Amino acid sequence: MASIALKSFVGLRHSTALDSHSATASTNPALLSHRRKVLRIKASKSSPRVAGRNLRVAVVGGGPAGGSAAETLAKGGVETVLFERKLDNCKPCGGAIPLCMVGEFDLPLDIIDRRVTKMKMISPSNVAVDIGRTLKPHEYIGMVRREVLDAYLRDRAAAAGATVVNGLFLKMDLPKEKNAPYVLHYNDYDSKAGGSGEKKTIEVDAVIGADGANSRVAKGIGAGDYEYAIAFQERVKIPDSKMKYYEDLAEMYVGDDVSPDFYGWVFPKCDHVAVGTGTVTHKGDIKKFQTATRIRAQDKIQGGKIIRVEAHPIPEHPRPRRVLERVALVGDAAGYVTKCSGEGIYFAAKSGRMCAEAIVEGSENGKRMIDESDLRVYLEKWDKTYWPTYKVLDVLQKVFYRSNPAREAFVEMCADEYVQKMTFDSYLYKRVVPGNPLDDLKLAVNTIGSLVRANALRKEMDKLNV
Ligand SMILES: Cc1cc2nc3c(=O)[nH]c(=O)nc-3n(C[C@H](O)[C@H](O)[C@H](O)COP(=O)(O)OP(=O)(O)OC[C@H]3O[C@@H](n4cnc5c(N)ncnc54)[C@H](O)[C@@H]3O)c2cc1C
Repeated sequence: MASIALKSFVGLRHSTALDSHSATASTNPALLSHRRKVLRIKASKSSPRVAGRNLRVAVVGGGPAGGSAAETLAKGGVETVLFERKLDNCKPCGGAIPLCMVGEFDLPLDIIDRRVTKMKMISPSNVAVDIGRTLKPHEYIGMVRREVLDAYLRDRAAAAGATVVNGLFLKMDLPKEKNAPYVLHYNDYDSKAGGSGEKKTIEVDAVIGADGANSRVAKGIGAGDYEYAIAFQERVKIPDSKMKYYEDLAEMYVGDDVSPDFYGWVFPKCDHVAVGTGTVTHKGDIKKFQTATRIRAQDKIQGGKIIRVEAHPIPEHPRPRRVLERVALVGDAAGYVTKCSGEGIYFAAKSGRMCAEAIVEGSENGKRMIDESDLRVYLEKWDKTYWPTYKVLDVLQKVFYRSNPAREAFVEMCADEYVQKMTFDSYLYKRVVPGNPLDDLKLAVNTIGSLVRANALRKEMDKLNV
């Protein structure tokens, strides 16, 4: 498998001067220490200064994209308001995060339910390959519950000075003149005006749409649609004796039965496992695929009780438009989930932060108005850094998820230690992993061999009409 070319973003300087914002959210020492890190920008720009106040930015959506965007903006001196419609939202999600996210986003270990060091890839004929063999002792895939991760990131944004509003964003009026404000309409649930909240408006200079796959901000700027997968997940509480097996182990199932174009998973959480699958091509059959995933894992989850059933769209590719004037989309709203792995949490948090950094930089710590060119800095950096990742995973999905013989070949290939090392290094660290030319050659020969066998097998099966 090809290594994925990733470069970590080196953008703004972090200094440790005292934060000028007052903390609102928490007395948690971990959160308070974050308040002290302030982004200071030195740049020169010709756009007008904002008089008597700082730049005002609304972040719509309090998932990983919105939480990290709001924190970065607030630390950078921008007046930040974060809208989240449901503060105890349990985003339907497998919750697997790469190790680098723990470090880059300074996540405390107590919000990580499980540290997975063994990942089993299970073929259509139930051949299981353990793909965690090359992990070093300190390396793992983090498993989080989204209600825990998202709340933590939002609280940290609040501690950095962002105002968190429990409200549903409805629509926005676009400015009719240069530098005029955006007017956001929302239902404020904080104001105790009954279940549907109180209708309010707010004026801001810029908007970050971090409101997920069904983004209203995206609609507001005519960002266009994307193809999407539907993903289904059940949280299953299994007996302690069975939970022991999943203590540090996750499973991925491939096969026509569990999904024609994706994979099924069993991911461990604190006291339960998340069992799920997804598909783009056969959305109407998602429940059938979910049943098949449960059947494949049945020996290990038998006696379990389904405690939550959840489903949500997963974007397949970026929207045609991600920036318009002073509005930018990040995370799922922009369409930043990788194919093949379906990974989106890290990319959401990272894009939120990258977009906010571009605003902080462009506005010189909230002192100047920004324009579309400032937001394009984020887009260009994003595309340059991550485009190869999306491309490689897109190709892998097309090659290996297209038939059961191809999937058997894929699992066979995963047994190779070199493949495991390259895959894990790329996933865990999101950075360039220089390959060994000899091993690369061996791998190419093996891959071609596996695919030839897969094709031969498929022809035989076609003849037999299997
Ligand atoms: C079943 C499933 C399993 C997945 N498993 C994984 C996995 O294991 N690992 C991984 O990396 N990725 C996984 N993903 C993808 C991942 O969940 C997303 O990529 C990620 O959540 C994107 O984060 P986000 O902040 O952009 O959007 P979201 O997490 O969707 O957050 C958007 C937030 O905006 C709020 N919101 C929406 N509309 C409004 C509004 N009008 N007003 C106010 N607030 C609003 C929502 O309540 C929500 O809190 C999975 C997805 C699904 C569906």
